[in-house]
Amino acid sequence: MTTHDDTSDPWLLTPGPLTTAPETKTAMLHDWGSRDEAFIQLNASVRERLVGIVHGQGTHVCVPLQGSGTFVVEATLGTLVPRDAKALVLVNGTYGKRMTKILDTLSRAYGVMETPEDIPCQPGDLDDVLAADPDITHVLVVHCETTSGILNPVEEIGAVAAKHKKALLIDAMSALGAIDLDARRTPFDAVMASSNKCLEGVPGMGFAIIRKTALTAAEGNAHSLVLDLHDQWAAMEKNGQWRFTPPTHVIAAFHEALERFDAEGGVAGRRARYGENCRILVDGMRALGFETLLADDIQAPIIVTFKMPGDPNFDFNDVYDRLKKQGYVIYPGNLTKAPSFRMGCIGALGPDQMRGALKAVEDTLDKMGVRTGAPR
Ligand SMILES: *Cc1c(COP(=O)(O)O)cnc(C)c1O
Repeated sequence: MTTHDDTSDPWLLTPGPLTTAPETKTAMLHDWGSRDEAFIQLNASVRERLVGIVHGQGTHVCVPLQGSGTFVVEATLGTLVPRDAKALVLVNGTYGKRMTKILDTLSRAYGVMETPEDIPCQPGDLDDVLAADPDITHVLVVHCETTSGILNPVEEIGAVAAKHKKALLIDAMSALGAIDLDARRTPFDAVMASSNKCLEGVPGMGFAIIRKTALTAAEGNAHSLVLDLHDQWAAMEKNGQWRFTPPTHVIAAFHEALERFDAEGGVAGRRARYGENCRILVDGMRALGFETLLADDIQAPIIVTFKMPGDPNFDFNDVYDRLKKQGYVIYPGNLTKAPSFRMGCIGALGPDQMRGALKAVEDTLDKMGVRTGAPR
């Protein structure tokens, strides 16, 4: 696929912000008034399309919010988890942990079910924990834990939560649009994501797709005015407008990005491109001796963690700078245990960019005198 036209911009092989298409950037070359009918329609169309991606028509609504992804996670937890509720957070990386921090800040009670960063959340263990603790009301899970790139079995987790009649809240920030999630099969109360990951808009807004009955029941729960998604929704339903200054350009770019998403064949099309990006990347890096943290069957086609090479000539910061000069931005690792680095497969990137990045890695290793990418 063709991607951005400004060759002075590097390709972003990162967890975000990501490379966007020229058409998406161009969509921002206007100013809109917040009460402008054209803008109100654009906003309504974005919200409707987002609900459609998870097949939530009729049952779920989309509530957008200004800010990065974490803003909407905090807003969703604050709005949907009542003050006398108890959450259970499934943790196997930074973003699961971040939800526990948010619950701490909000003074909401919670338990944690933790697995190592290279092990998916275990539905069988969830069954046991929910059977043992009837106080739990909400189960919180991360779809693709971007820390490692691991795919958590959200459908199975959802089935266990449903069996115990618990509400399910999913942080699908780095998965929505590229990995299937169907509200008709997986009965979630909310899924949270943002404009700038697999949907390839520009950064600046998050959104939650929330079960209408859960949102209606959530009036008065929120700890915050700006992060109150019930209020945000109720106000937007009334006149189609945002409560506070909307990120107009971000929404216009998002609308264009969603047109492109549809043209690519929706989730199936996007998943296919990212899957190919991921396969090219992993095969190519393995051919240079690198090892992935994860086995292929638990690796999401989103971002790949590589173990740090053992060769003493390999210095990550130096590699980063050299790759950047060649037009490719990679990302540091974030594992608690072993040193690592990450390369992303998402954004407006295709096979040419993945092969270009591999060539740049190979040349860089040569120049630095690194004989293999194999870990210690
Ligand atoms: C990117 C991401 C977020 C949100 O991070 P922000 O930096 O606030 O945009 C939340 N959860 C996951 C899984 C993510 O990948």
